[in-house]
Amino acid sequence: MKEYKIKPLVTGWFHMNWGGLIFPFAEGYHADLPVFMFLIEGEDGEQIIVDGSYTYAPFTMKPIKSPEWEVPTVLKKNGVNPDSIKTVIITHLHHDHTGYLSLFKNASYYIQEKELLEAYYPVGPVAPGYEPKDWMDLVPRFQLINGDFKIRDGIKLIHAPGHTAGLQAISVNTAKGRAIMFSDCCYLYAGLAKRFPMQFFELMNKVTASAKEPVDTSRPEVAETINKIFSSKYGGYFGPSIINPGENMRSMHKLNMMADIVVPGHDPMLVDMKVIPDDYHLEGK
Ligand SMILES: [Zn+2]
Repeated sequence: MKEYKIKPLVTGWFHMNWGGLIFPFAEGYHADLPVFMFLIEGEDGEQIIVDGSYTYAPFTMKPIKSPEWEVPTVLKKNGVNPDSIKTVIITHLHHDHTGYLSLFKNASYYIQEKELLEAYYPVGPVAPGYEPKDWMDLVPRFQLINGDFKIRDGIKLIHAPGHTAGLQAISVNTAKGRAIMFSDCCYLYAGLAKRFPMQFFELMNKVTASAKEPVDTSRPEVAETINKIFSSKYGGYFGPSIINPGENMRSMHKLNMMADIVVPGHDPMLVDMKVIPDDYHLEGK
């Protein structure tokens, strides 16, 4: 089977108010998350782009930008000429994955049909997660996929709903086994920590026990529990705009079982993994 390398490209960070999105469990809790585009490179030199970073952010996410993270600069530095890219994979249409998709003038875009249909008519609180201006004009070049799809020898798209209805993960064959790119099905490595559900239920109990008044995050026991859940050690199950947490959890466990190498959507640890699998050194999953 053909082998590939995956390069996580940092294109900015978000300073996020998680509390504004997961009320009332983490009101006031802020965390910084990197936003990646990914470059998949084949042994024959083929380059495939995954997702398109952001130009817009809703009020809950404060973008942190620096010239070195500008998308055209990042692509150039990594030897990518946007005009030469023929294939772009869109994991889902959230605004931090679509900002620069239109740079790739000669590309076809591979996306789940379900994702497009949902994004056309987003409902209620998930609507601010989309920026249709980024991609509306590109729809004629969308290749609509229904379910799992082998896009190349060694690369497969896997429908993994939950975060959005049509999120797709990507299975990539590497020299060190099968890498699974989770996208926002799992933000952080810690999202796979087995202990998380118990931590979450403990917090729920604390919150409901004090439900007569708003949760005071300055209370040490609440702050401590929130930190355990959302810190790099435990965080990642929950993110904004998860339309179906239960379904997302099932998708996450399915992908985890398939993976020799785990590539989450927004983990700061990926910043130092310039090339996967070469720089991948995590034990187990
Ligand atoms: Zn997302």
